[in-house]
Amino acid sequence: MHTFTIEGFCDWCQTPSFVTKHEYIDGLCHHSCEKCLSFAIMDVKQFNQAEIEFRNRSSAQS
Ligand SMILES: [Zn+2]
Repeated sequence: MHTFTIEGFCDWCQTPSFVTKHEYIDGLCHHSCEKCLSFAIMDVKQFNQAEIEFRNRSSAQS
């Protein structure tokens, strides 16, 4: 559930707006406005999936 209560800056369209927080698996976070929400969700999901795959591969090798 995403709420747009943070007054900030959208990391996707680079526009000041009310934004929601997206957290990455590695501890980073980005913010997106309502307009960019679907892009943001997709981006974060892809990043996290790649990161999980990378971690699985690294742990399999060691
Ligand atoms: Zn935006």
